[in-house]
Amino acid sequence: MHIPSSHVFEALSEKGVDQLHHANSVATACQFLRSRALLSRGTVERLGITQTPQESDDIDRRYSIWFDVFMDSVDIHHHARRANVYGPVLFVFDIGLIDRTGTGRLWVTKLNPTKWAGKSEKQRWFQDKDDLEENFVLGQFDQMVLARHSGGELPFKGHLRKIILDDPRHEDDEGIDTYSMAVGALRLAMQDVGLDIPIERRTCRQGCVCRRYWTENDDRTLKMFSPKI
Ligand SMILES: [Zn+2]
Repeated sequence: MHIPSSHVFEALSEKGVDQLHHANSVATACQFLRSRALLSRGTVERLGITQTPQESDDIDRRYSIWFDVFMDSVDIHHHARRANVYGPVLFVFDIGLIDRTGTGRLWVTKLNPTKWAGKSEKQRWFQDKDDLEENFVLGQFDQMVLARHSGGELPFKGHLRKIILDDPRHEDDEGIDTYSMAVGALRLAMQDVGLDIPIERRTCRQGCVCRRYWTENDDRTLKMFSPKI
């Protein structure tokens, strides 16, 4: 069920949401920067540009959310003390991103699409502003904001505040530091379109297990941090 963006903006603001987040791989993040927009998986695929495969792709296709743009109300890595499975690059937007016309219709999930099997429309999606005011919970990872029918593209329009990047403390075969390589790629992508967004090295909360996630699987780390696929 679509909800006017002004209603989503008001309901989430009242809940204390002041930022929206989107996590992805370094290669895909570079494409977003060059486009100055968040792009849906389908849009990236249609344009034939680089994209890192995600395990949820099949589910996204099945529920026809392939052309939607996803955002989280919280920094999942920070709150869950683990790496975000969608990638080490976190785009941080102010909530003003959705407080304007031109955002398209917004939809808010109640459940992550990976848990949608056998669930009704009302169990999958918030229905209206009242539903959001009653049941939206800041920090509930299943509740995601989607820009649907927006042409698969949500322009940053000056609302991208910063990028937080995980440091996997990893070197490639030639001894090049993976974090530095990723920063270089993101900076280059910004330069190409005249953007200058601060990149912050992630500081983890005590007990965060992301270090293990990035050290236990070399292929995954290279796939997520490599500027090219
Ligand atoms: Zn961490």
